[in-house]
Amino acid sequence: MKPMINKEENIEFLNNLANILTKKISPISTASEINKLFKNYLNIEKAEFIIWDNNSMLLKDFAQDWRIFDNGNSPQEINYIFNNLSMSDGKKFYFNDEEFDCDIDEETQYRILELKSDINNIVFPLVSNGDVFGLINITSEKIAFTKDFFTLLNISSRIISGAINNYILNEQMEISLNFYKAMKDIAKIIESQYELSYIIPLIGEMIDRFMSSHLIYIFIYKDNKYQLVWPGACKDEHVYKILENLDTQKDVILSFNQQIGVFPIINEENILGAIVAYSNYEKLLQKDIDYLLQLTRQSGLTIHRANVYAEVLKYATLDALTGLNNRRQFELRLKQEVSNSKRNEVPLCSIMIDVDYFKKVNDTYGHAAGDCVLKDVAEVIKKELREYDIACRYGGEEFFIILPQTKLPEATSVAQRLRKVIEETRMDIREAGVDGVTYLKITASLGVCEYNNSMTADTFAQAVDKALYEAKTTGRNRVIVS
Ligand code: GH3
Ligand code: MG
Ligand code: MG
Repeated sequence: MKPMINKEENIEFLNNLANILTKKISPISTASEINKLFKNYLNIEKAEFIIWDNNSMLLKDFAQDWRIFDNGNSPQEINYIFNNLSMSDGKKFYFNDEEFDCDIDEETQYRILELKSDINNIVFPLVSNGDVFGLINITSEKIAFTKDFFTLLNISSRIISGAINNYILNEQMEISLNFYKAMKDIAKIIESQYELSYIIPLIGEMIDRFMSSHLIYIFIYKDNKYQLVWPGACKDEHVYKILENLDTQKDVILSFNQQIGVFPIINEENILGAIVAYSNYEKLLQKDIDYLLQLTRQSGLTIHRANVYAEVLKYATLDALTGLNNRRQFELRLKQEVSNSKRNEVPLCSIMIDVDYFKKVNDTYGHAAGDCVLKDVAEVIKKELREYDIACRYGGEEFFIILPQTKLPEATSVAQRLRKVIEETRMDIREAGVDGVTYLKITASLGVCEYNNSMTADTFAQAVDKALYEAKTTGRNRVIVS
């Protein structure tokens, strides 16, 4: 039997504990460090940190990153002890199923000696503002169980309480902040975007960010079925089964075990799609459900707008963000210029531009800043081109320029000039309202190609795309001539 520790060691123990808890807490590693310390100084086999979660009304295992507490240790018993401890305002602890005052006296000590066996169970409350919000469930070998031992445990449980409680508050605050940021971001997208292939990954990523314990899927209802649009794959059959039962009358359908939530995206009387939250081990909490309901509603508006807008855009020729020709218009004009070049044997060139590392701009400064950059790039293009050149927004951050009556050397020097001006221009992102940042510098990669009679409009576009690809793979911020 290990002798009980002396005064100096007591202080050393508390000092070490304080050191663990003043570092940045991460549930798994902090719990394992405390366990080591308990083992070394107090001969404690194992300490579990179990937290009461007000949202789910369940006990959770803090050291398992907040999993629902469900191990061999009979949850009912732990529940029972937790309820009793809660009623004592955190002033009691349990030793082998018997309740004692945290400040132990001689009588208590005698009783404990009577109760002790080879392996002992000790439960101390985690307390904040007089409320018990969890417990430390300790397994300890047969040792002396001196007054010091219990005093140290009592002090430890108070210090650990403070640290864990802070951690939980911080985490909750962060989730709320992330949620409101996501709502704001989605609202912003509504204002400026209309392409579903662009909008849906954004919505998915935003929900992902504050719902990390659940996988998020987004489905769009199209051609009489649910089509997964974010992320790449969903293998779970339960999800598809629940999707079959969706209707516009319900806000959400939960699976029997509450680990899957399916939220239909509804506009007026139509189902536009569904957002699915899926977890292998974690139940959806009421709070998560409330968040997802709001986000689904907001997403419904966004997607509906995008659909309406796409319909309108079928008749538009210009891109809404940049004012350049849109993709549809571009395809028409390219065909016209190709057949003109063929028929009249006049030269024709094209330039394709792709902004370098544009995703980083979005990720660092937000999509509104990304939009500002795209507008500025479009302005540079407009300014640098001649009147009869045709500039288009080809997609996302890609631009296509058709240069009628132009030979390759001239097109190449236009491309070189564009590359240089883009590199030198301070892109104005003030409109995006990013704290402390008003301008950004970016670069772009460009491909150049001259048309020849053996090409179709498609193969001509592919050739310039290939040159652009080479500019990307050989280092970016450069012009490659096909
Ligand atoms: P690379 O140098 O290889 O071209 O990297 P990249 O990050 O520029 O390329 P990638 O294709 O990975 O990312 C393009 C990003 O452009 C992804 C997409 O979210 C973003 N995007 C597409 N359309 C828009 C838009 O209208 N506005 C904004 N802000 N971003 C857009
Ligand atoms: Mg691109
Ligand atoms: Mg790019």
